[in-house]
Amino acid sequence: MTDFYQILGVSKQATKEELKKAYRKKAIQYHPDKNQGNEDAAKKFKEISEAYEVLNDDQKRQIYDQYGKEGLSGGMGGQGFGGGQGFSSMEEALRTFMGAFGGRGGGSSGFDSFFTGGDGRSGGAFQGASKKLTINISFEDSAKGIEKEASIANYSTCSSCSGSGAKSSGDIKTCSTCAGQGQVHQSRGFFSMATTCPKCHGSGKMITNPCQKCHGSGKTKEKQIIKIPIPAGVDDGMRLKMAGYGDAGEGGGPPGDLYVYIRVKPHDLFQRDGDDLLLQLPISFTDATLGCKKEIPTLLSKSCKLTIPSGTQNGKLLRVKGEGIPNVHGHGKGDLIVQISVETPVHLSDKQKKLLEEFSALETPNNSPKKKSFLDRIKVFF
Ligand SMILES: [Zn+2]
Ligand SMILES: [Zn+2]
Repeated sequence: MTDFYQILGVSKQATKEELKKAYRKKAIQYHPDKNQGNEDAAKKFKEISEAYEVLNDDQKRQIYDQYGKEGLSGGMGGQGFGGGQGFSSMEEALRTFMGAFGGRGGGSSGFDSFFTGGDGRSGGAFQGASKKLTINISFEDSAKGIEKEASIANYSTCSSCSGSGAKSSGDIKTCSTCAGQGQVHQSRGFFSMATTCPKCHGSGKMITNPCQKCHGSGKTKEKQIIKIPIPAGVDDGMRLKMAGYGDAGEGGGPPGDLYVYIRVKPHDLFQRDGDDLLLQLPISFTDATLGCKKEIPTLLSKSCKLTIPSGTQNGKLLRVKGEGIPNVHGHGKGDLIVQISVETPVHLSDKQKKLLEEFSALETPNNSPKKKSFLDRIKVFF
């Protein structure tokens, strides 16, 4: 059997103050804002909210003490309570939560005010809106890292009224529609539903003489130039979070964040593969055949010497350690991977032609790198 006292961890003699304290403590633990996607926590949150809803209401508590939870289900002089099934929806639980600790109705907001001690009907604290920004950088800069400047326009707390929206503190009156409660109660059959006051939108206050600077919104749009540090190793499409660079929060809530999306221009020579760089290197067939040393371009250092062994085949990948892109999380550096592309010579002189014809006459099956492996493969089948 459900024991609401046990659920909240209070005695049967608990005062309202004790109930609220116990509910607060457990709500911190199980609030959906803190436990996203956690169904156990959601269930717990609904349970404690239901327990609080009942025990905090003198009439319901009396019925509960006398008849148990079943006594609360329907028909008890209009005190029916969800058919005794408990809170089926998170909405109901959150409404109880809002009722106890303030904050505007709807959604799962109101959590911040809860933590900042927003007990009562302060109108709640809300995080400011987050912003998006796209920054274009060169391929080299993505490897080296760079600081970029950007102009952003954010809503900040109005300096004239400190965000209250009123010309003076005397211009803030208690909302007459909800008597400062921020909520109005509507009866629907057996149920009494609390909804956000339509007049004051839950703040419980009305502004009779609005601040001239912000026209009562409590916020003004401010332009600012910010510096965005872009770390070495960022890749195209990555997103950086600049915490607190969004709009100012409301009612003491934290500001929103700025999300910076990085666009990296492609490079003429290099392609990126994770932290590795790819470079196509065309070489002559004689260099590939005889082997050679080649000066090759790198992205971050001047250049480096690459040894191409004799008998290098077209498409062969050669790795130059540490000449790739620094890992964006600081885990070392990638490599430069050179893909050899062997060119077939064209526009031969008579002498070249003659020499190659002589060479061709001397060729043996053994000169083909494929022959051997081809025969090896056939052997597997016979
Ligand atoms: Zn203002
Ligand atoms: Zn109101």
